[in-house]
Amino acid sequence: MPGASTIRGATSRSVKFTPYEPPPGSSGAPKAASATVTTNMPFKDFQVDGIGRVTVYKRRGNRSLRLTLAPGGVRVSIPTWTPYVSGLNFARSKQQWIVANLPLSSPLLQNGQAIGKTRRLTFVPGVDTPKAKTSVRKNEVVVWLNPRLAFSDAVVQHAAEQACYRALKSEALQLLTPRLNQLASMHGFSYRSLNFKRMKTRWGSCDSRQNIVLNIFLVQLPWDCIDYVLLHELTHTQVLHHGPDFWAAMDRVLPGARKFKRTMHAHQPALGYA
Ligand SMILES: [Zn+2]
Repeated sequence: MPGASTIRGATSRSVKFTPYEPPPGSSGAPKAASATVTTNMPFKDFQVDGIGRVTVYKRRGNRSLRLTLAPGGVRVSIPTWTPYVSGLNFARSKQQWIVANLPLSSPLLQNGQAIGKTRRLTFVPGVDTPKAKTSVRKNEVVVWLNPRLAFSDAVVQHAAEQACYRALKSEALQLLTPRLNQLASMHGFSYRSLNFKRMKTRWGSCDSRQNIVLNIFLVQLPWDCIDYVLLHELTHTQVLHHGPDFWAAMDRVLPGARKFKRTMHAHQPALGYA
């Protein structure tokens, strides 16, 4: 996206929308409130294609729609009398701006950063290439960049991100496949197929036909968490739901498995988080 870095530098990370007229028959716009209590605000979460997570808050005293980029997603606060969908539509109308500015709200990929368990990220500046070029190697992910660009430029970060995803996928395939097979034979499970995907909200899944999908970000986690997810999905080959039967079966293969439910919430399926 040409010029994205300059826009990022010069623009505030929150935008305000033109005032929303209260519907006829309502008591009118609320008076400008001085209270800025942000707790207990009613809200709804949405997953929007091309943007990601959008949280819409109803905020007393708001006379306009306000959009803010926060770590983990987009926040829109709206007046209490407007429907949640108006906040959602506002976020959609600002998609271009959001995509150009969002990288600032997630951590920049850094030189030397660990990518999974076996690779590091290396930026090589000053190379004659149109924008950025990448390669996934045995121990590193290399990003060569044009001398006019900085490693923090959106176009370079985007190229680096895509290369890191490729690296994580190949590592997941190499490390997690044998581990899943080992755990399956240790505990007498079988499955039909195994695939690796980049997922935003789930670590893994298993359908009724015993097809297992694992999140590529799993390889960033400690091995005890990885084993928990693998055993969780293997257990689903026999018990599909999450009822008492499921947890009893899980306890037989991993005593105290429930404690990992909380541990897993502390981890995020995203680059740069472990
Ligand atoms: Zn499950």
